[in-house]
Amino acid sequence: MPATAPATTVGQRAVVLGGSIAGTLAARVLADHYREVVVVDRDEVLGVDQPRRGAPHTAHAHGLHGRGFLILAELFPGLRADLQARGVPVGDLGEMRWYFDARRLEPARTGLLSSTGQRPVIEEYLRSRVAGMPNVSYRQRTELTGLRATADRISGVALRDARTGRESVLDADLVVDATGRGSRTPVWLEQLGYDRPVEERMKIGLAYTTRLYRKRPEMFGGTQSINPVASPAHPRGAFFGQVGPDECILSLTGILGDQPPADPDGFLDYVRSLPVPEIYQAVRDAEPLTDPVTFTFPASLRRRYERLTRFPDRLLVLGDAVCSFNPVYGQGMTVAAMEVMALRRLLLRGAPPDARRFLRDVGRIVDVPWQISTSGDLEFPQVSGNRPASVRIGNAYMARVQYAATRDPAVTAAFMRVAGLVDPPGTLLRPGLVRRVLRLSRDMRSRRATGAPTGRVTASI
Ligand SMILES: Cc1cc2nc3c(=O)[nH]c(=O)nc-3n(C[C@H](O)[C@H](O)[C@H](O)COP(=O)(O)OP(=O)(O)OC[C@H]3O[C@@H](n4cnc5c(N)ncnc54)[C@H](O)[C@@H]3O)c2cc1C
Repeated sequence: MPATAPATTVGQRAVVLGGSIAGTLAARVLADHYREVVVVDRDEVLGVDQPRRGAPHTAHAHGLHGRGFLILAELFPGLRADLQARGVPVGDLGEMRWYFDARRLEPARTGLLSSTGQRPVIEEYLRSRVAGMPNVSYRQRTELTGLRATADRISGVALRDARTGRESVLDADLVVDATGRGSRTPVWLEQLGYDRPVEERMKIGLAYTTRLYRKRPEMFGGTQSINPVASPAHPRGAFFGQVGPDECILSLTGILGDQPPADPDGFLDYVRSLPVPEIYQAVRDAEPLTDPVTFTFPASLRRRYERLTRFPDRLLVLGDAVCSFNPVYGQGMTVAAMEVMALRRLLLRGAPPDARRFLRDVGRIVDVPWQISTSGDLEFPQVSGNRPASVRIGNAYMARVQYAATRDPAVTAAFMRVAGLVDPPGTLLRPGLVRRVLRLSRDMRSRRATGAPTGRVTASI
């Protein structure tokens, strides 16, 4: 792998717990700065390009959008060409067919890329490149059972081999917890005499049910994916994407306990109930390649590590272990990538990363996507949570942005840059854009009521 950063060695051994997306990316940057990097996962991960027990969510549609793709392309030169050579589609984020409130956004060339390939396939591609680095090794089917500490510093991890049951301790100069949402770090912190991080939750009662189909060329009408995103007026949503040369994925989403059925007839009935007809038209007589599978996601969860005043040195936490967002916003992998870049910036200073400094950086990175995801969820009246004026006004404006984007590709492009975590949400408040959004959404209420079509404008900002 070509080095993307000058290699300054800051330690002997870094241990990465969890070999999924966050762990893989962390190992990638740590390998430039530690003599040895060991990745531990309870599953067999090397060579595995299918959903597995430790990561069942990877069976469902995953878009690697915008900033996430940009970062990965920087860490893994040749990413786009390699994925495309494997038949994994990569296209412009703004040119996918997006529906908000059952209205189609004007497609826009944004220059931001998005891959709709199957998550395990992309992950395996990245993992195989990391595993090929000479100083990276894997301990597979190995369960993390605890942290080891001396004074105020983590010194290693306790492991159990899942095949033999044999317990061992692996010493480490740095331990990175990337074990996902089920991370046990809060419990182990408490056992070591530290506070647990405060946890914030937003209950949304979300469910995905997913099925793969054989792809036919006419299904997508020339676009990479068709995505009617759930809204309060149309709470049933879907992500229907091309994933490979012969396959496509359909993930149905339901919120607040409305779980898309996993029996084939019920699944198809749910497809028919979507607010846009083309997905039903595409799959009603298509050849299914898998049975439908369901994943439930009761609540988004954020752990406020950045607020802890005491934290052991040489322990970092990232990815879903810190924050797991409502997945419909497609942010989790991108946020993990952004966190890993923050880690790389600290490593480039030529010293072991300061844990509290890193966790503060992570907190700042998570702020915006957490705000996007929780504010969006609060649009649904049945979701409980505070709705201060900032959230109500912000949501009312976002609805207008999405409506204006059904008429104006420049608004779509601005919106996609924010959704893809490339631009901060404040860019949607640029005076020229605000004027445009308000003008184009003047008739939003009456059109919402009548369902009348919108009309495209062609002028640019
Ligand atoms: C239905 C769904 C759809 C999604 N869609 C998108 C999307 O479109 N775009 C997007 O960017 N994000 C999406 N996400 C979010 C994304 O999947 C997560 O943000 C991402 O998986 C986080 O990666 P991670 O490596 O932090 O954790 P995980 O992927 O959860 O991986 C954790 C790893 O740790 C291992 N592990 C756990 N405990 C132990 C232990 N004790 N010992 C050893 N190993 C252990 C597991 O085996 C696993 O490999 C979606 C999520 C869901 C649920």
